[in-house]
Amino acid sequence: MGIGITHLGSGSRGNATLISSGDYNVLVDCGFSLRQTEKRLRIAGFDPESIDSIVVTHHHKDHSGSALNASKKWSSVLHCNGGTASRMGLVEGEFAEFGSLERIQFSSNLSMLAIPVPHDDADNVALVASDGKGDRAAIVTDLGEAPDDLVKHLSSCNHISIEANYDHERLMSGPYPDSLKRRISGRGGHLSNSQAGEVLLRSMNKDLRSIVLCHLSESNNAPHLAESEVLLAIGDEFEGNISISKQLGPEFSYWTGQAEPSKILAS
Ligand SMILES: [Zn+2]
Ligand SMILES: [Zn+2]
Repeated sequence: MGIGITHLGSGSRGNATLISSGDYNVLVDCGFSLRQTEKRLRIAGFDPESIDSIVVTHHHKDHSGSALNASKKWSSVLHCNGGTASRMGLVEGEFAEFGSLERIQFSSNLSMLAIPVPHDDADNVALVASDGKGDRAAIVTDLGEAPDDLVKHLSSCNHISIEANYDHERLMSGPYPDSLKRRISGRGGHLSNSQAGEVLLRSMNKDLRSIVLCHLSESNNAPHLAESEVLLAIGDEFEGNISISKQLGPEFSYWTGQAEPSKILAS
């Protein structure tokens, strides 16, 4: 059956990724305005009303922004863990709660496993989607380091979308105050390009066909730096395709097992 992955856009000004099994659609994070999200879904060829579920990884605005409003307007189920729900100010009846390492079963051929990751002042999770027949796609953003448990799950994925937030040199020589530089590069911050490469190398497996680098900082990174640093780390081990999701999307869709992404052209 397989799993479709479409980034509607990614970065500190908003994140949303559509995961589809063909007959069930899940939006992972809903960090753009409702209007922007609907516009981007239509560009990707999806009716917003066709979103069955929304999963929020953590409460930061660039991930949770319009999730509640969208779930009400589209009559989709809003899923998050208890910590995220309370930080978003959600009340009973507004969300379906999942626990750590719990599998959320959406349909007979789509589920997601929620894996806790360290990120400042947030109960953040990485998500691994599965079609139940061997295809797996991971969405991993906003973490300072990758726990062994996460790497174990990534090692069985055909697709990995992972943040490559900053270039270490650019962050350290850039305009941010020292306290912010420490926070971004610390355990509760974000993955640098080289850390993303390291996680991918540890997660490498023969079935991994596609990688999307996402959540690139506009001040402390550039697409060519992220791609070259990651390729340097994984080099000969990886024979698949690598793309970058920018802040303005969607630009492409992957289908697990597919070597090349399908381009999306805004009409
Ligand atoms: Zn974020
Ligand atoms: Zn965050």
